[in-house]
Amino acid sequence: MARLGFIGLGNMGGGMAANLAKAGHDVRAFDLSAEALEKATARGCLAAGSATEAVEEAEAVVTMLPAGTHVRDVYEHSILGKAPPSAILMDCSTIDVATAREVIEKARAAAYLMVDAPVSGGIAAAEGGTLTFMVGGTDEAFGRAEPFLATMGKAVIHAGGAGAGQAAKICNNMLLGASMIATCETFVLAQKLGLDPQTFFDIASKASGQCWSMTSYCPVPGVGPETPADRDYDGGFAAALMLKDLKLAMEAASSA
Ligand code: NAD
Repeated sequence: MARLGFIGLGNMGGGMAANLAKAGHDVRAFDLSAEALEKATARGCLAAGSATEAVEEAEAVVTMLPAGTHVRDVYEHSILGKAPPSAILMDCSTIDVATAREVIEKARAAAYLMVDAPVSGGIAAAEGGTLTFMVGGTDEAFGRAEPFLATMGKAVIHAGGAGAGQAAKICNNMLLGASMIATCETFVLAQKLGLDPQTFFDIASKASGQCWSMTSYCPVPGVGPETPADRDYDGGFAAALMLKDLKLAMEAASSA
């Protein structure tokens, strides 16, 4: 079992860090939020006083932060030159491809192996250890990261070189965002045209409109498998985060 530093214990990171601790790893955790840190210690992690303290003597480091600016800042000030150079660094946040490549290059220049490893799957998947990881980095870095990521997920896929994980994540979420908006609009129109939502679901799931957003995550309560719609639209993957991902997709499209 390894000594790990884990930074960013929010909705996603909290469950992920707990799963690493449950698997027997010695997880030194840090978050700017005292409440998030307290929750993580109640679930088997050890509280660190700072991000730097979390990564000292770590064999592996995981970050799960809101956006590119936080990732750049935490790696520059608290990880590079602070964690042992033998540590494998894994950033699981969803950030822009350019920042991911920049941070991995800085890590490489400081003799670290690092991957970008964003996830698909929401808070329930983070809790249940069933995330899908899309990983960018060298074969060597992927080989080192894979066993840790596998502890937190059901699938760990090597997408290509540095930044390829973020590219896959952004493209996937562009498809998801577009199909979820289309699914919502479609069900509103179907109901306004007098169709019963369940009847329309039964038809469209056997027709060419079939897609994950409808058959696995139907936005209409009582239709299809249980989804946030059945829990009074209780929060999960926030609309603000999807907006962030769609903006990242547009940014990436402009740059390409
Ligand atoms: P969150 O806001 O709940 O958690 C982020 C945590 O990072 C917070 O607890 C915050 O206090 C902490 N943090 C910020 N700056 C810090 C710093 N400098 N040092 C230490 N801690 C710091 O966000 P989340 O929902 O857990 O999402 C995290 C990442 O995962 C995002 O990039 C998001 O796009 C991605 N993601 C989220 C979901 C989801 O369903 N929520 C799904 C897939 C991917």
